[in-house]
Amino acid sequence: MYDFNYHKPSSIDEAVALFIDLEDAVYLAGGHTLLPSLKLRLAAPTDVIDLAGIPGLGDIDYAGDDLTIGALTAHDDVATSPVVQSVIPALSALAAGIGDAQVRNRGTIGGSVANSDPAADYPAAVLGLDATLVTNQRSIAVDEFFTGMFETVLEEGELLTAIRFPKPEAAAYVKYPNPASRYATVGVFIARTTKGVRVAITGAAPSVFRATEMEAALNVDFSENALAGISLDADMMNEDLHASAEYRAHLCTVMARRAVAQLS
Ligand SMILES: Cc1cc2nc3c(=O)[nH]c(=O)nc-3n(C[C@H](O)[C@H](O)[C@H](O)COP(=O)(O)OP(=O)(O)OC[C@H]3O[C@@H](n4cnc5c(N)ncnc54)[C@H](O)[C@@H]3O)c2cc1C
Repeated sequence: MYDFNYHKPSSIDEAVALFIDLEDAVYLAGGHTLLPSLKLRLAAPTDVIDLAGIPGLGDIDYAGDDLTIGALTAHDDVATSPVVQSVIPALSALAAGIGDAQVRNRGTIGGSVANSDPAADYPAAVLGLDATLVTNQRSIAVDEFFTGMFETVLEEGELLTAIRFPKPEAAAYVKYPNPASRYATVGVFIARTTKGVRVAITGAAPSVFRATEMEAALNVDFSENALAGISLDADMMNEDLHASAEYRAHLCTVMARRAVAQLS
């Protein structure tokens, strides 16, 4: 690890002002991605801005059919929140399936979404539930948010403060986990909403994406059989030692069918 300066601001404005003033700063949430990359010397920021001292960033609120979760909320708090369990049980179940107890107690929803890891679970929920990403400067519709592997539309120094989820009619998430890390080899989030069905897939491709062919089929006939003939293009899939591109494409349909079965 290279040396860096440590800062712990007590407000969003102070955090953003620090980021702008400092030479090469980075925000720290739970550190579950950032600290390993610092220790491996894959990143060398001059300054680390710890978000843990900012009040309100870990709040969970439900009002007017919107569930709002603060960016610094730990996975375990989402998993065990009675509010999340009652409004969007699929979201609390997803959080309960992330990593292990240590990861769930330190990793945060905002860190996961800002990081846009291709195998992370939350991006599937955020995209599947048609969420809105709230930052210090704007609100971003999720269909605009994820732009690629470890890439989002967040600008330099832009701070994700909360994620707003409209309550779906019903939702389910099914993943085929990596047996060691529990990251998604493939994870499929399906939501039935007043505007139609949304299907978001993580783990399979460089970035989370909507399976529009599946959405169209499920909007006509919400059944497992509606997905039987759909196979996604293996050319767009990731390939690594855990799963070939063809296997990932196969898992997309299998996981989607299981999610539909949970909702039928
Ligand atoms: C062993 C292990 C197993 C894991 N298993 C899973 C799994 O099964 N499923 C899964 O989905 N994830 C998994 N993770 C990832 C983990 O759950 C965290 O969500 C992820 O590492 C992000 O960590 P963090 O929230 O601590 O963010 P940090 O590491 O602190 O930050 C990550 C990045 O996001 C930026 N950032 C953080 N917060 C904000 C913000 N509010 N606004 C703007 N930028 C921000 C930081 O600057 C940094 O670049 C695993 C991690 C580990 C180490």
